[in-house]
Amino acid sequence: MTCENITESKGRFEWIENREPVDIKVKETIRNEILEVGLVRDVGFADLSQYSKVPGGSTPFEYLNDAGTAVVYVAETDDVIQKYGKWYVVSLNNFLKKTNDKVAVILRRHGIYCLGIIDERLTDDLMGKVSFRQIAVLAGLGTVGKSTCVIHPRLGPSIMIGVVLTNSYVPRDGPLEKELCSDCDACLRECPVGAIDDDSFNRRKCKDRRKILGKGCGTPCIVLCPVGGG
Ligand code: SF4
Ligand code: SF4
Repeated sequence: MTCENITESKGRFEWIENREPVDIKVKETIRNEILEVGLVRDVGFADLSQYSKVPGGSTPFEYLNDAGTAVVYVAETDDVIQKYGKWYVVSLNNFLKKTNDKVAVILRRHGIYCLGIIDERLTDDLMGKVSFRQIAVLAGLGTVGKSTCVIHPRLGPSIMIGVVLTNSYVPRDGPLEKELCSDCDACLRECPVGAIDDDSFNRRKCKDRRKILGKGCGTPCIVLCPVGGG
């Protein structure tokens, strides 16, 4: 860790300087402006000092060494695929590139320095090196279900997550106090390769299944989740 402003202890990050938080009214204005950006359905603010490195992973501070708050937005996967094409990763990246730029224009207009990130790197366990899921949870945009997807309270698990780092401190929104996963076990029961069990997720089994089919497996783990009306 090269940052002068942050100390790391047991995988947690702590500020060693105080920053004036962004005014709450300005925060809500920013949120409303980002909600006007195409396909964005919800926005949250995550306190990055609470971020924990995943095994073999990295941190947002690799991109912005004095990052304080992440502005996190979500869109519905179907909307993104419809607009940006059927190949999941291409579609996601094109959506993130365009949307990060638009969010950055808004933040800079409010005098906030920022950097949108797209990180396709994976750990040996096939997790994102920088965990967007964890950052979305810190922003109060959902909780992690048994399927290991972030489940948004209104949109369910079928969401795409974007992250724009700022070096300002914006009062955080999350995490949510209530777990949204109802333990219905639909994802666990219906996964065709048994990738999900009560306390683990076998990413390799899931990936291999999707590779063999050459497309998605129909994602019953997402489609059948009852949260968000699925
Ligand atoms: S995407 Fe398909 S293979 Fe992967 S966990 Fe979900 S249901 Fe199982
Ligand atoms: S399908 Fe049921 S068990 Fe699986 S994540 Fe959704 S609510 Fe939780």
